[in-house]
Amino acid sequence: MATIAVGMMQRALDEAAVYALQREQFGKPIFEFQMVQDMLARMSAKIVASRALVEHTMRLVDEEQDVQKDGAITKQFVTDVLQEVVSDAVQVMGGGNGYTKEYPVEKIMRDAKVFQIMEGTNQIQSIVIARRLKKEYAARL
Ligand SMILES: Cc1cc2nc3c(=O)[nH]c(=O)nc-3n(C[C@H](O)[C@H](O)[C@H](O)COP(=O)(O)OP(=O)(O)OC[C@H]3O[C@@H](n4cnc5c(N)ncnc54)[C@H](O)[C@@H]3O)c2cc1C
Repeated sequence: MATIAVGMMQRALDEAAVYALQREQFGKPIFEFQMVQDMLARMSAKIVASRALVEHTMRLVDEEQDVQKDGAITKQFVTDVLQEVVSDAVQVMGGGNGYTKEYPVEKIMRDAKVFQIMEGTNQIQSIVIARRLKKEYAARL
């Protein structure tokens, strides 16, 4: 789920950044506006962080380590961040082109929602994480 989510975020950023270079308002591409740059920059940072988290957990899988907690953290964190990134992609593209079906980000935003629900809702991931935390901290007593 998290791996697919990272791909969806990247596509959302690709669409929004290219659009921002082409869409002109007030005589210049909207990419030139610092608040648009802020959204694109934060989207990019969230993608880098999410990808790094997925790579971390996949490394644990390769090493045949227990990934119950890290897997739950990764699924929950990355799919929550996905909502923010795709929502900002729609925001950058505005109502006419972001929210409508003319461009793919509307579909990506709609598809993204189910990633918080499928394969264990993100609330259930919290239960898995908290169970592990309890065990880890109880072992220290
Ligand atoms: C597009 C799609 C594809 C799917 N594909 C599959 C599939 O291939 N195989 C499969 O088996 N299932 C699949 N599902 C089902 C999916 O796994 C369930 O929707 C998911 O587990 C949530 O169950 P539910 O919908 O019954 O919601 P509920 O269990 O009724 O949960 C509703 C809400 O209550 C919360 N909640 C429930 N119990 C607790 C609790 N104990 N503590 C805290 N919060 C709680 C949930 O987090 C959620 O927010 C799919 C669902 C969708 C939408």
